[in-house]
Amino acid sequence: MCGVFGIYGHVNAIDAAVLALRALQHRGQEAAGIAVANGVRQPKVRKGLGTVIQVFSKEVLQDLNERGPFAAIGQTRYSTKGTNTLVNAQPHWAESLQELFAIADNGDMLNLPEQKARLEKMGIDILSGNDAEIKIKTIAAEYLINRVGPLEQAIIAMSEQIQGVYSSCLLTRDKMYAFRDPHGIRPLSLGKLDTGWVVASETCAFDVINAEYIREIEPGEILIFDQNGVRSVNGMKACRKSLCIFEFIYFARPDSIIYDKLLEEARKRMGEELFREYPLEADMVIGIPDTGLPGAMGYSKASGIAYERGCIKNSYIGRSFIEPQQFMREHAVQIKLNFMERVIRGKNLVAVEDSIVRGTTSERIVQMLRQARAEKVHLLLTSPPYKRPCFYAIDTGRREELIAARMSVPEIASKLGVNTLGYLSLDGLYRAIGLERELFCDACFTGDYPIPMEHEPSKFEGE
Ligand code: AMP
Repeated sequence: MCGVFGIYGHVNAIDAAVLALRALQHRGQEAAGIAVANGVRQPKVRKGLGTVIQVFSKEVLQDLNERGPFAAIGQTRYSTKGTNTLVNAQPHWAESLQELFAIADNGDMLNLPEQKARLEKMGIDILSGNDAEIKIKTIAAEYLINRVGPLEQAIIAMSEQIQGVYSSCLLTRDKMYAFRDPHGIRPLSLGKLDTGWVVASETCAFDVINAEYIREIEPGEILIFDQNGVRSVNGMKACRKSLCIFEFIYFARPDSIIYDKLLEEARKRMGEELFREYPLEADMVIGIPDTGLPGAMGYSKASGIAYERGCIKNSYIGRSFIEPQQFMREHAVQIKLNFMERVIRGKNLVAVEDSIVRGTTSERIVQMLRQARAEKVHLLLTSPPYKRPCFYAIDTGRREELIAARMSVPEIASKLGVNTLGYLSLDGLYRAIGLERELFCDACFTGDYPIPMEHEPSKFEGE
């Protein structure tokens, strides 16, 4: 997924970037980086493996602050393209004798090998396996070699060559650009902080620095920040809007606002819809922390069944899914969640979770509920069956790894050992969100991919 932040025209650009990136930490914990600009010298980049706090030590911050920067871009990384190594961490940059352009990107690319070969043919070295490096080097090539015009034209030229996803901030010596792919698959919002401008993947990053949320950056829109303020350019090919539905189900923080909807409230309504679809009788409702909690509250409100905590999350552990290795993921569930036997023993309970992808987490959760002596376990999901891999900046693995692609709902229920397994319907999901289906990408449930694929990416192997 990745978290992206940008700030322009502010004396505390670096401190604001660090705080905002910490608020976006849930979008990626593998690496973090910041690029800064002071209008005179080329942008400077510092990045490292780990969380924002781990990477930005006092020394690193001092080093970045040395030049008195007024602009910064930053990223927290969750790897989809490329392994978790420093060379893949962001911001990536492209440089020539005259210029250095840095990019912080939340995205993915379907035609990475073809575009990489194209750049290499032009004599451009590609150092990482990360799509953001290809994007910034494509922009730089269009600007410096093909001389398509001002940098925004180079960004438009990049959008014509790259099939994929990008919600990005780009920094030069004296300007910042923020842009979104024409489908707008990943979120990106604009805000204001004092006399400066801010851009972030999610509005929770604005709250932490007391920035004012202005609006979402439109799919295909390019914003240019310079000493005259901000202006908008719309030169990318118009496409159907396709915001990732999983931002509403799982990724975005509950205190973030997308399309004017507070995620916490949307997720509560998903729980209410679940009760309409599965009006069960039970002693209590619990939510699987964190994302299942509002859904459980909504189910409790609609049903009148008591809401209990039942499960305590160790908040010093990151999101289990983000651990790239399966073994780590399995153990991460146990260290993260503790089901309280004294609350659960002998109970007929509804447990609300956001989703089942590979099935690893739910299997462990049901085992732990059984160990805590639950009498009956009704597992309800605030999403439909996850059947198709995502190629748009999420690491869901290959199709054969997705449990709902291989098994029917009754088969999954018996594998998990639950009394009831209930997935929210697509209609129920959209009713809960309160927005038109036309605004979203829901390919993981429906197979309706908004970006046509010229070449089937490797995740299709085995189909
Ligand atoms: P799994 O163990 O593969 O079934 O993963 C499902 C769990 O990971 C659920 O508890 C979700 O909260 C979370 N999750 C679902 N989808 C994603 C995703 N694409 N990226 C990260 N975490 C996810």
